[in-house]
Amino acid sequence: MSGILYVVGTPIGNLSDFSPRAMEILQQVDFIAAEDTRVTLKLLNHFDIKKPLISYHEHNLRDRGNEIIRRLLDGENAAIVSDAGMPCISDPGEDLVRLAAEQGIRTEIVPGPSAVIAALCLSGLSTSRFAFEGFLSTNKRNRRLHLESVKDDPHTLIFYEAPHKLLTTLTDMCAAFGPDRRIALARELTKVHEEVRRTTLGEAVTYYTANSPKGEFVLVIEGAEPPAPPEISFEEAVEAAQQLMEEGLKATDAAKQISAQTPFRKSEIYAALTKEE
Ligand code: SAM
Repeated sequence: MSGILYVVGTPIGNLSDFSPRAMEILQQVDFIAAEDTRVTLKLLNHFDIKKPLISYHEHNLRDRGNEIIRRLLDGENAAIVSDAGMPCISDPGEDLVRLAAEQGIRTEIVPGPSAVIAALCLSGLSTSRFAFEGFLSTNKRNRRLHLESVKDDPHTLIFYEAPHKLLTTLTDMCAAFGPDRRIALARELTKVHEEVRRTTLGEAVTYYTANSPKGEFVLVIEGAEPPAPPEISFEEAVEAAQQLMEEGLKATDAAKQISAQTPFRKSEIYAALTKEE
């Protein structure tokens, strides 16, 4: 019988966010696949966990992935962790989970913090619908195409960015989305210098031109305004209401329905309908 692959979240800064269940699972498994074994070793040492580590990162995904799958098929249990946060989110893990699923290997989640959700929750922007955009490409043209493709998206947009690229990214975003679009820059989450700067893209560019960005950032940007409804004349509104009456609605109901969809009052539409009747 094959073993279990546990996808384990690790802290994004504050080690106290490491869950008791995450510790328990890392103690139980046969080995841990880690994005950077040196980083994970520090975490394991801190919690006094002793476990064999193997490296699993974007440059050895294929060979290491197959090796891990073979060991799981042989009955070993494994955990995958990344340097910080959730594996699979702008970090290795997605391929391994896919391979495991293809082989019918059981996968279990041990959720932990993820910078995308932590930043969204503190942004003060709409959390009901959002799109995670990951990192922008370092290639100028691809960055522009990416930003163009989401500029009219009404969902809250979330990007990861490194501090040395922040100003270029904000400048490109300002050009694509306009200087008035609201942004929350969430920095150093769960760490000593945690900060959320809620501002506009234009003001963020000015601020970070004068102050060099330090630490890890998540950029949360408000979605685009939904397009304004097409303008409609009063005569067209009355015609639409008449159409509804021809379909069987009473004048009062037709006026109410059209009033809800147009800037005109129910009473004035009703008056026009009954006058023309
Ligand atoms: N897998 C991780 C997760 O679940 O959040 C993300 C890994 S990605 C390689 C690293 C990026 O996440 C950073 O460049 C930054 O944008 C964001 N990030 C990670 N930790 C953060 C923190 N404590 N505060 C703000 N952003 C953070």
